[in-house]
Amino acid sequence: MKALVLTRYNHLECLDVPAPTIGPEEVLVEVKACGICGSDVHGMDGSTGRRLPPIIMGHEAAGVIAHVGSQATGWKAADRVTFDSTISCGKCHFCRRGRINLCDHRRVLGVSCAEFRQDGAYAQYVAVPQNILYRLPEGLSFEHAAMVEPVSIAIHGVGRVPLRLSDTAVVVGTGMIGLLVVQALRAAGCGRVFAVDVEPKRLDLACRLGADEGFSPKQTDVVAEVVRRTEGRGADVAMEAVGLADTVALAVAAVRKGGSIGLIGNLSPKVELPLQAVVTRELTLYGSCASSGEYPACLDLIARGVIQVEPLISGYGTLADAAAWFDRLYRAEEGLMKVILRP
Ligand SMILES: [Zn+2]
Ligand SMILES: [Zn+2]
Repeated sequence: MKALVLTRYNHLECLDVPAPTIGPEEVLVEVKACGICGSDVHGMDGSTGRRLPPIIMGHEAAGVIAHVGSQATGWKAADRVTFDSTISCGKCHFCRRGRINLCDHRRVLGVSCAEFRQDGAYAQYVAVPQNILYRLPEGLSFEHAAMVEPVSIAIHGVGRVPLRLSDTAVVVGTGMIGLLVVQALRAAGCGRVFAVDVEPKRLDLACRLGADEGFSPKQTDVVAEVVRRTEGRGADVAMEAVGLADTVALAVAAVRKGGSIGLIGNLSPKVELPLQAVVTRELTLYGSCASSGEYPACLDLIARGVIQVEPLISGYGTLADAAAWFDRLYRAEEGLMKVILRP
């Protein structure tokens, strides 16, 4: 089969490689669409230690089943499917409590690190355990279905924080995940959603996708504006989708006493925490990682257009021209968001 292989750091090649063999509880999926994730773009230079070459990356995919393992029940060839990016064991302490994203034996498709190596979906075929497969709703395209992984991260993050109808929320960072968080908060019944970013174009898009107003910290005292619009209290919830010291501090400062902060971004492994504000204002911080069982809900939200993914797709590529797309994404070309490969 053809596959996009990271043969060494910063070097992607479209190669002929053997198709994966499947175990009894696995299926072989013919990949129809696979989104390029920021973690691949940033990881391919070796900086994260999670893309040790050689590796076939890619964990945001959809396709059709080509072969079914002898013990994979309930699936057949030609079924249209997507799958979780996280492979969970289903047996450990955390899996048995439904917290599959915290699985003790967690592996991620398209990731290779010190603990494991798991080839992903920038290829014609990928092997997937049956317990992470999901059926596509009728009429949902493979390209839109491939967006379910980032959507699930947003839905899981919003699900982590306590929300009541008509609450006010602030979204810090309107990249891919932030823009999906804006839509998820809207769907969850927030009254007002404020978006924060330094890029005016992203704020415009955030407003088109459901934010009431967008603020740039370069131009405005964001916290003062939020406080002014909430009778001097601050927002009920802030969702942080960047993960830098300044953006975390802004999220903490933007919520009311007793408010909650959902932490999704983690660009920086460590940030200084405004501890006194968290303690004396009784704020609650919720870390959020990947997703745990939200895929069917996310597929439904995308299929019904409640979560719009089309405005986030910038272009389509093939395995042959993928390296050029990666290059443009690596250079952070302005306006470029999700690129979907069709192997
Ligand atoms: Zn991803
Ligand atoms: Zn487990």
